[in-house]
Amino acid sequence: METPGTPTIPNSQSDNTPEYQHDGHPSDEGAEPYIDCRDLFKIFKKADLEVVALRGVDMEVEPGEMIAIVGASGSGKSTLLNILSGLDRPSAGQVRVGQRDLLNISDGDLVLYRRLEVGFVWQATARNLVPYLSARDNIELPQAIAGKDMESRRARSLALLSILDMEDKADRKIHQLSGGEQQRLAIAVGMANSPPLLLADEPTGELDTQMASQVFKLLREINRIYHVTIVVVTHYPGVAEHMDRVLHIRDGRISSESHLESAHAGAGDTPPEEYLVVDRVGRLQLPQEYVDKLNIQGLAKVEIAGDQINIKHVSRNPRPDQAQRSNPAENA
Ligand code: ADP
Ligand code: MG
Repeated sequence: METPGTPTIPNSQSDNTPEYQHDGHPSDEGAEPYIDCRDLFKIFKKADLEVVALRGVDMEVEPGEMIAIVGASGSGKSTLLNILSGLDRPSAGQVRVGQRDLLNISDGDLVLYRRLEVGFVWQATARNLVPYLSARDNIELPQAIAGKDMESRRARSLALLSILDMEDKADRKIHQLSGGEQQRLAIAVGMANSPPLLLADEPTGELDTQMASQVFKLLREINRIYHVTIVVVTHYPGVAEHMDRVLHIRDGRISSESHLESAHAGAGDTPPEEYLVVDRVGRLQLPQEYVDKLNIQGLAKVEIAGDQINIKHVSRNPRPDQAQRSNPAENA
């Protein structure tokens, strides 16, 4: 359980000074979003087949915010995260992370971005950790690659192991850790070079509920201590309780978002409030169950009633050209 106000964790001061200057600070009023996606598209081309994985994603994430992205399989979650992490390039639109324009970034800068400005946690622990290294050496490896000296590497790994409450397991090899401990260590590895952004793609997908909950608590702790912006793709049912916001992605677009009404609300409180996302040009995605229920397709009637907008099912097809062209033989 969290005990607010009890400093059980080393503060970021005792840590070695961050090499990376953050672009913003969570307390900055009216600061620019740390992540800004506008009308972002990703099209995969395979032979003569095209898959539109992202179709106009609009998304803003504030510096130091912690959000989750949820959605059905194939809705574009990993594609979006891979673009934010610099592993993949978008096809069109705008995507800015900190000061980086990820659409027009050079290959060299993209490598630096990946190395110093983002931490990434995969679902499969094997992908996050080097099995023959100790827990400590796993945290120190990315720092060594980034050219950190021995002393600062050690200080950083100790600070992170302490947050994980795994100082006594520093010398253990990966197979000597539980699945939950391995994923928590993976988060520490992601934070090794003090990136301002931490991304995780279904980090608890292979864990039971209790371990998953610990992983989310750790993410919140890391977020609180280092003010790192965190984006997590997840299926974990209780995720809203741990997050500032939950974005729902459907068919490659952010369709709605939800958050608990009170920032201090915890488990068992009122369910998160869900809001439709209306983008900059007024587009929105109706919830699928409403579309199904009212059989809205093709055309709908929209009218303003006071401060509300009514969207109505159109019972007969009003398109004149089709009416004129209607041919009894076609309707047979
Ligand atoms: P999610 O993570 O939400 O399950 P993905 O982002 O992995 O979804 O995939 C979104 C869509 O893009 C899917 O239709 C998927 O098949 C397609 N896709 C993802 N990666 C590739 C790729 N490298 N090549 C072709 N199609 C891809
Ligand atoms: Mg995925």
